[in-house]
Amino acid sequence: MSCLFDKVTFIGMGLIGSSLARVLKNNNLCNKIIAVTRNPETKDKILSLNLADEVFFEAKEAVKDSDIVIIATPVSSIIKIIPDIEGFMKKGAILTDVGSVKGSIASIKVSNNIHFIPAHPIAGTEKSGPENGFAELFENRWCIITPLDRKDNEYKNSLDLVCEMWKIAGMRVEIMDPKRHDMVMALMSHLPHLIAYTIVGTAADLEENSGHDVLKYAAGGFRDFTRIAGSDPVMWRDIFFNNTEAVLECCQRFNEDLTMLQKAIRYKDSDSLLKWFERTRQIRREVVEYGQAQPENEKILLKGKKVN
Ligand code: NAP
Repeated sequence: MSCLFDKVTFIGMGLIGSSLARVLKNNNLCNKIIAVTRNPETKDKILSLNLADEVFFEAKEAVKDSDIVIIATPVSSIIKIIPDIEGFMKKGAILTDVGSVKGSIASIKVSNNIHFIPAHPIAGTEKSGPENGFAELFENRWCIITPLDRKDNEYKNSLDLVCEMWKIAGMRVEIMDPKRHDMVMALMSHLPHLIAYTIVGTAADLEENSGHDVLKYAAGGFRDFTRIAGSDPVMWRDIFFNNTEAVLECCQRFNEDLTMLQKAIRYKDSDSLLKWFERTRQIRREVVEYGQAQPENEKILLKGKKVN
């Protein structure tokens, strides 16, 4: 594989940053990796896992002569870090991120000297930190890129490089408007997480208030909810605070549909329930056909063919 960059700086090397660093290293896509952390313990982990050649505590120092700076911290900190560092980057360098919300990040004003390319690799687990990353995380997943409206060739070349990097990581790359990205993610990811956080909290309250063991019988669907609800609290607070409008719109629609299903159960409206469940069963089949149904980090057989 040919080298895409000389120096790469990661600001934040947790699950996503370290997984991408592993991809860059395994495929010799760069000559040097620099990482930025706030935490001496993370620095030791990054160095002992051989994920970076140098680790800095100061982002401004670390971005100086890098060809690409990848910000992989929670969304609110991405928004603060971009204006802090862009003036210290070299002319023509790429500035990108992996944040799960794109509207509030893509709207940040960045100098035209820097090629700002917001991105979101839609791949992850509920775990955090550099020790939990793995290069295969991105395989067969989507990466949404929300580029700026720039027509110059230099910017287009940088965009091609960012797309190429994610394709080598095994991702399917799609260019999208940030607002559309945030609406799609509100429905496909943010609302399901909110439901998981709610239901797990409700079960814990019920157990506490009723004095009955509930959680020890965690099975099937509920167990999956607990996995999702075990995701990083700061990361998810930031997602909800930065995609508020779309998440609340999806919640409103969800509440309306839930009320309708409650009514159908109360009045034993078999036709309505069966019609709804048949439709959702068909949707499950379509998701499997799109190849998006396999559990993270697991190889499954799809239509007799190995995926991953
Ligand atoms: P993570 O494992 O917790 O890593 C985030 C890293 O950011 C930490 O190692 C932390 O490093 C650093 N950090 C945290 N707060 C910071 C702050 N205020 N300023 C500077 N650095 C800070 O999280 P992750 O799962 O990799 O997520 C990173 C980004 O990827 C988030 O924006 C998230 O929305 C996005 N994303 C996540 C997933 C997922 O499923 N996990 C999927 C797609 C996209 P130190 O504590 O060592 O400084």
